Amino acid sequence: MSGMSGKRVVVTGGSRGIGLAIAGGFAEAGAEVTIASRDADACARGAASIGAHGRAADVNSPEDLDVLFAEVGERGGCDVLVCCAGVSGGGSAADIDRADLQRMIDIHVHGAIEAARRAARQMRDSGGGAILFVTSVWGLRGQPGTLAYGVAKAAMAHAVKVLAIEWARDGIRVNGLAPGFVDTDMTADLDEAVRDKLLKRVPLRRAARAEEMVGPAMLLCSDAGSYVTGQILVVDGGESARA
Ligand code: NAP
Repeated sequence: MSGMSGKRVVVTGGSRGIGLAIAGGFAEAGAEVTIASRDADACARGAASIGAHGRAADVNSPEDLDVLFAEVGERGGCDVLVCCAGVSGGGSAADIDRADLQRMIDIHVHGAIEAARRAARQMRDSGGGAILFVTSVWGLRGQPGTLAYGVAKAAMAHAVKVLAIEWARDGIRVNGLAPGFVDTDMTADLDEAVRDKLLKRVPLRRAARAEEMVGPAMLLCSDAGSYVTGQILVVDGGESARA
């Protein structure tokens, strides 16, 4: 696909699932990809499987992010950042406490914004770039039992709009991808009855494969999407088209 060849890409949460699929798709399109996640072994395995660089980094740790972006800087700097690091965390308002909410905000909101700030510094030096926050349909619509996760994903979606406006003058585009139900480790333990109930609402009548996030991510991160910024692309098998 157009405009990915030679781009230096960083994918947080790139060791498995949606992040690894996107990293692999970008590597296949000719990008030089660096993936990051907390588990060093998983990260190295994921990187080896797609011909990428791997660096253990917790997006919650400013020090880890400094090391990650210093390493990427030595290779010429970041052109494209995909913030995919995330964890699920269920619970209704009655079930969760302040610490649960804080944990979700730390990983998804601070993690993505801190990575984006570091990437943007390098992008400014090279005249621009593209940033993608992987949010969720549950950050756009209310889903009972997902208060902490949904609030964090909604904040990421809002950050996309603010950063897109603030950084447009630097040639940096910022967009969001909001997947629906994707078959990954994150959804593997879901109760079968809950899974069936959720998928019944999806017009395509199935969960997405992680690889089905590659094309939409490519559009938003490559020159094919050069006039797209500040947008959240929903990829949910048509669920949000329902009344
Ligand atoms: P996954 O298979 O569980 O992968 C999550 C990735 O994030 C792993 O690489 C994990 O590696 C990494 N990670 C978690 N916490 C991290 C941290 N603090 N610092 C760095 N890396 C971290 O989940 P997935 O389904 O691919 O999810 C990827 C993203 O898509 C998440 O943001 C998720 O919220 C979002 N999403 C998923 C779905 C779905 O249905 N699967 C739907 C909508 C949105 P380590 O454990 O090694 O750190």
